[in-house]
Amino acid sequence: MSPRQAGPGPLLSVAGLTTVFEPPSGRLTAVDGVDLDVFRGQILAVVGDSGCGKTMRSLSVLGLVPPPGRVVSGRAVFAGRDLLALSEGERRAVRGARASMIFQEPMTSLNPVLPIGEQVAEPVRVHRRASKREALGAAAAMLAKVGLPDPARVLSRYPHELSGGQRQRAMIAMALILSPQLLIADEPTTALDVTVQRQILDLVSGLSRDTGTAVVLVTHNLGVVAQVANAVAVMYAGRLVEDAPVEAFFEGPAHPYGQGLLASLPRLADRGRRLSAIPGMVPSLSRLPSGCHFHPRCPRAFGPCAGEVPPFFPLPDGRRVRCWLYA
Ligand code: SF4
Repeated sequence: MSPRQAGPGPLLSVAGLTTVFEPPSGRLTAVDGVDLDVFRGQILAVVGDSGCGKTMRSLSVLGLVPPPGRVVSGRAVFAGRDLLALSEGERRAVRGARASMIFQEPMTSLNPVLPIGEQVAEPVRVHRRASKREALGAAAAMLAKVGLPDPARVLSRYPHELSGGQRQRAMIAMALILSPQLLIADEPTTALDVTVQRQILDLVSGLSRDTGTAVVLVTHNLGVVAQVANAVAVMYAGRLVEDAPVEAFFEGPAHPYGQGLLASLPRLADRGRRLSAIPGMVPSLSRLPSGCHFHPRCPRAFGPCAGEVPPFFPLPDGRRVRCWLYA
């Protein structure tokens, strides 16, 4: 369990979550024993390069891992119930009403042959048993809230008639319309311009502040993290390697991978200087290095790193780090 936050217990507590893919060539571990707590009103950013397991971890929690992947062990206890032990029908009911997910690509969530209004209104009709008229009214109000101009007209539009940014907003409206307790947002603003990105992030953080919604924000963009998150979880090659309050992370990540990520960000004060980059590449799941998966790229690797998997070490400032330097 994360030591990050005192007070009431976590809304979502993930423990030992392990997700694998089993192609004929052998087992690939996409999420490797992840433990993580998410609290009410918290915006937890899950960061790391593409292929580090951030998205797969979120899909695993909600039972959305695409075949042939499967969760082989672990728990994801949400509001007292283990989501991984529920039937698909029970999980779908939780997903619709109490936990939602926003994807990077809206076309994976929007049905191309249904008008936007019907899709955004559907959770209200199904879970609140509202009339069609009431549900469409709620949909129009939500579309206005996410900044779509002329929401009454958008209700009758089909996804292909909207721009990419408008589709993204419609999908966000659909995810937020029931004020979920948990929102998992996977790179929700990557395709949007900076102004729209700011509006969407303000909307998500306002929702979290006003209603206590816990937000898991999956992103590779540390600028977005700095704007809205209050905690950071760093993933590398399927493992969680650091779990920290956001201030502590930006003051100085403890894990060498997080240090490399932060050092690769451009800063005004460093204008004219060459950006630092982490040497090497994120390893393929089929060729994960032994011990600490980061050791071939780590400038501080030493004795035990290549041979033994580091456990989590707690630090006095409330963070946890998976690195032998802190043993
Ligand atoms: Fe680097 Fe070793 Fe720490 Fe891994 S365990 S991050 S290789 S110092």
